[in-house]
Formats: sequence, C-alpha cells, structure tokens
Amino acid sequence: MAPKYKHIKIPEGGQRITIKKKKLVIPNKPIIPVIEGDGIGRDIMKATRRVVDAAVEKAYKGRKKIAWMDVYAGENANRIYKEWLPQETIDAIEYYYVALKGPLTTPIGGGFRSLNVSLRQIMNLYACVRPVSYFKGVPSPVTNPEKMDVCIFRENTEDVYAGIEWKKGSKEVKKVINWLNKNMKSGIRLDSGIGIKPISVTGTKNLVRKAIQYAIDRKLPSVTLVHKGNIMKYTEGAFRDWGYKLATTEFRNKCITEDELWGKYKGKAPKGKIVINDRIADSMFQQILTRTDEYSVLATPNLNGDYLSDACAAQVGGLGMAPGANMGDYIGLFEATHGTAPKYADKDMVNPGSLILSAEMMLDYLRWDKASEMITKAIEKTIKKKTVTYDLHRQMKGAKKVSTSKYATCIIDNM
Ligand code: NAP
Repeated sequence: MAPKYKHIKIPEGGQRITIKKKKLVIPNKPIIPVIEGDGIGRDIMKATRRVVDAAVEKAYKGRKKIAWMDVYAGENANRIYKEWLPQETIDAIEYYYVALKGPLTTPIGGGFRSLNVSLRQIMNLYACVRPVSYFKGVPSPVTNPEKMDVCIFRENTEDVYAGIEWKKGSKEVKKVINWLNKNMKSGIRLDSGIGIKPISVTGTKNLVRKAIQYAIDRKLPSVTLVHKGNIMKYTEGAFRDWGYKLATTEFRNKCITEDELWGKYKGKAPKGKIVINDRIADSMFQQILTRTDEYSVLATPNLNGDYLSDACAAQVGGLGMAPGANMGDYIGLFEATHGTAPKYADKDMVNPGSLILSAEMMLDYLRWDKASEMITKAIEKTIKKKTVTYDLHRQMKGAKKVSTSKYATCIIDNM
C-alpha cells in the first residue's frame, strides 16, 4: 500500500518504481519526487520539467509519462512544515527511488548542516556521479574541448569530508593531540586543528563497483582509480588497492589491469575487456588536460573528485552545463551542480542547462534512451544556432540572448 503523507500529494495514475532481481523495474508512468529548489531553482525546474515532458511525449507518443510528485526541502519546506528537511521528503525519495532536485540554500546559522550533505548522508548516496562532455559551440578555455568525454564517480560519504574535525585550542583537539603524541609519538603541534580522513573497504568497493558497472553497461574502454596513494598509503593507497582487488575478483572476466595489458596483451586490450588503471591525483590533473581522450571513467575518493569534477567541467565551458547525480544502491537523486544564485532568482534569466542535463541523466537511468538522446541532441542544436542564456551569451560572438523559459522552448522546438 502506498504510504500516506501530511503535505505530499501522490499523483493519480502514477506508479511506483520497484526492484526485482536487484534491478529497477520502471513502469510507464513512474512517480518521480521532485524538490523544486530555492532561488533560481524555481526558474530552472519549471523549464526542466517542460523539456522532459516534451521529450518523453515526442519519444513515446503518450505511452510513457512522468508522474511528477512535489516533495519539499529548503525554503518551501520551511514555509510548509516549519523545518528545512522534513522526514516525509526523505521517506518519499527512499520509497520511490528516483528523484530530481533543484539547488538548495544552506541556511546560515550555527551548526546548520548543508541540506545537500544531509540528503546524501541520510540516504547513503555514496556515489556522486558527474558526466562531463562537450557541446559544440560552448566557449571553452582549451583548444580541443571536444576530446573530453568522461564520467567521474566521486565517493560521497567519507574522506576528510566526513565532518570529523576539531577546532584548534578546543578541549577535544587537545585530548586527540595529547593521545596521539603520547601513544603514537606523532609529534603534532599543539596549536593545530585536526580533521580525520576515514576511507573504508565498504565505501571504496561500493563506489568502484558502480564505476565499473557503468563502464560495462556502456561498453566503455577503461576505469581509472585516481588517488594520492604515494603519500597517504593507508587511505588513498588503500583505495587503489581495494579498487583493483574488487575489479579482479567481482569483475574478473570483464576487466584486465594495466599491468596485464602490457605484460600479457602487448598494450592492446582484448575486445570487450575494460582496462583498470590508476593515476596519482596530481598527474591526473595534467593528463586530463594533455591526454584528455585517453580517459573514460574516473573513480575517486571524495576530495580528489570534488576538485577534479569542477576542473573537468571548466574544460568544457563551466558549471552551467554540468549535470550530476547522487546515487546509492538503487536511489538516484539527480541534481544541478550549481547553487541557488539568489541574485538571479525569479528573473527568468539563468541557464537551466545543468538541471536539464541532470534530468537527461535521470531518463538514461530509467533507460528511456530515446527521450534522453532527444534532449542532448536538441540542446546541441540550440547552442549551434547560438540561442543561449546570458551566461553563454556574454562569451559568444553573434549569439542571441534568451530567457530561461524561452531557452527551454527553443530546446523543445529543436527536438
Ligand atoms: P551559485 O549559486 O552556484 O552561484 C554562483 C554564480 O554562478 C552565479 O552568480 C552565476 O555567476 C553562476 N551561476 C550559477 N548557476 C547558474 C546558472 N544556472 N546559469 C548561469 N549562471 C549560473 O553559488 P553561490 O552563490 O556560492 O551559492 C548560493 C547558494 O547556493 C548558497 O546558499 C549555497 O549554499 C547554495 N549551493 C547549493 C548547492 C546545491 O544545492 N547543490 C550547490 C552549491 C551552492 P554570474 O554572477 O557570474 O553570472
């Protein structure tokens, strides 16, 4: 029986996505919870829903349709529930599995955790997935931006982002430093702040498994483990070792390692095998610029992935076009990668590209490939015709500036 909610209205005729034999089963009218988001969320979510609905309608002629279900977080939730992240929002996403989310304000105030971080941690959405590829015509700072076509899998729950840290001079930090100096002979300066960097077998395996499965599903050539294991041996180095271990046990007949590639196969991977290699993070930052097209799927601990995904996005023209998702075993929470840009809120002027592409990723996750391809191609066409929002307009010669809503209409017209 469908759950009952206090403020969430379940759309009539909508059906729940279920799980059978460890796979999502997608009905023709899946209920998709949607968090509108704060600030520009209101503008870009409207545009995104219109584009998605049009693509699904054009691709499947009414046989399939998304049953959007508004759920609340951020300012909307605070207005309706008098709290920022109501339990029934989390319950609904956990029950319906696939959701779309606009950006959320992090309310300023002592001890307030980012709603985005809370959503990831509460639902154990351990993989932050960020595909980065180039749309022809988008201004880019590099000579060959079209060579970029990677998908970054960033671990989302551990590392120095786990939030385990103590302020310099606090009672707690003194206790930790004294204990480490006395028992481990660590020699830590007494005027230090301390942060803890946990990286576990569980977190690493969950993440790397998802990255390899993604490469298998899409017949991609390689998965690269990005780490700083030469310095941080038992965290980042272990991430690499556990990643290789997983690849050569759970996926043994689908993968070869880079050592095997050269030792056994003279540098040419047998057909259908994915090459698992690893790169030290600093070298990776160089290689993604200089040998961009040699990389395909990147699996990284939290901090490396945070830097690397923005650096990759910059190579293809910035965050305005970068989609993202937070994923657990089954749940996919698809979201724009930028924030709420409050100064532009309700002005119908920002670029909805990041959220539209996140929704396109969502359709891909539902395996509604025809609709998702339609969106990608229509965006490509719209940019090629130089019809763009203000952010791209200011960097493009001879372009026509349009509003958020008009841009969405152009994308729909170009399908
Ligand atoms: P931001 O909202 O991402 O905006 C920074 C700048 O990026 C904007 O002023 C604008 O640049 C550009 N921009 C962002 N989105 C754009 C779009 N769709 N189209 C065109 N340009 C866009 O970052 P912020 O100002 O640091 O953060 C504002 C709030 O968002 C904070 O409360 C923060 O906590 C929150 N936030 C939420 C998320 C999330 O929900 N995932 C992520 C990041 C931040 P120009 O002014 O140069 O045009």
